[in-house]
Amino acid sequence: MEDTILPKSYRVAILGSTGAVGTELLELLEARNFPLGDLKLLASPRSAGTTLSFQGESLTVEAVTEDSFHNVDLVLASAGGSTSKLWAPKAVQAGAVVIDNSSAFRMMADVPLVVPEVNPDAAQFHQGIIANPNCTTILMSVALWPLHCVQPIKRVVVATYQSASGAGARAMEEMKEQARAILAGETPKTDIFPYPLAFNLFPHNSALTEIGYCEEELKMVNETRKIFGTQDIHISPTCIRVPVMRAHSEAINLEFASPFPVAKARELLSHAPGVTLLEDWQKNYFPMPMETSGKDDVFVGRIRQDISHPCGLELWISGDQIRKGAALNAVQIAELLVAKNWLKVPASVLKV
Ligand code: NAP
Repeated sequence: MEDTILPKSYRVAILGSTGAVGTELLELLEARNFPLGDLKLLASPRSAGTTLSFQGESLTVEAVTEDSFHNVDLVLASAGGSTSKLWAPKAVQAGAVVIDNSSAFRMMADVPLVVPEVNPDAAQFHQGIIANPNCTTILMSVALWPLHCVQPIKRVVVATYQSASGAGARAMEEMKEQARAILAGETPKTDIFPYPLAFNLFPHNSALTEIGYCEEELKMVNETRKIFGTQDIHISPTCIRVPVMRAHSEAINLEFASPFPVAKARELLSHAPGVTLLEDWQKNYFPMPMETSGKDDVFVGRIRQDISHPCGLELWISGDQIRKGAALNAVQIAELLVAKNWLKVPASVLKV
């Protein structure tokens, strides 16, 4: 009988498995047939013992402990910054590579910040941890990189329209309950967000810095520069929460050193990986969060010449920030590590 070489499979743990990103990770691992040998679902003690369905089986969620990462090859972490800071280094020392969705490690020099359509090769230099960028930053990077490669972008002015789910599973429930309360003539309650989001909007709820930009806005500046590998791109974001359940949208103004023809931008974006060009000028039909929810691509449309600047372009984008802005990007990084044989913690990082 001939020997059959079985494809290698990997032991994976999802830290934050019960959350908005965690449940999407579970769905994507199943849908994309990730080569799984074993799957461990981790969360806080609050949801230990609850079950989640995977490939028709019911898997029990465990509270994360010191022993959680033994015999694990890959940790997909989506449990917030402080949880990642506590557990990611322990997971790496137990021999697991961590792909982290929080902002805890993103700007560290030895942590690659990866969007597979933009800078896949950065992943190979990981020291055990790879960071998934901020969701609005991922969506913008995927749309701008094909243009930037042809003619470097000098300046970006961007306004975001960020959905409730960007703040997690409980934020979605909060907005639904607020909508119900307002329609019933009651006073809406706030817990996750500082103000009612239903029938309202407000500047992003992340902390304000002393220069007047909030943390979310500065993530877009600093992370885009790290992903694009240049400090020469100047970015001014205004981040806004809007009463949309899922998918973030962005109005983006670009400035180049010389004119960038609209037709060329359209042609480039119609072939770009991870991008769907969606424009019907007759019907005034362009990407909308209701339609981009649950989709993999970043949708781009309404590409037009900036009438205030000869070297300016305007675009409108919308994309599912739980999917491409978080879970899908993380799974794509995992697939890249597998394909390139980079899914191992360098020996030099492991303490003896
Ligand atoms: P979420 O819906 O609130 O889920 C948080 C998850 O983390 C839950 O599974 C929760 O488990 C777990 N968790 C919380 N504290 C923990 C602890 N001390 N120990 C272990 N597990 C703990 O949040 P999310 O929206 O999925 O976001 C998760 C991470 O992804 C955050 O860092 C967020 O910034 C990032 N992210 C989110 C988005 C998005 O669109 N939502 C996009 C990009 C990045 P329990 O069920 O036990 O509470």
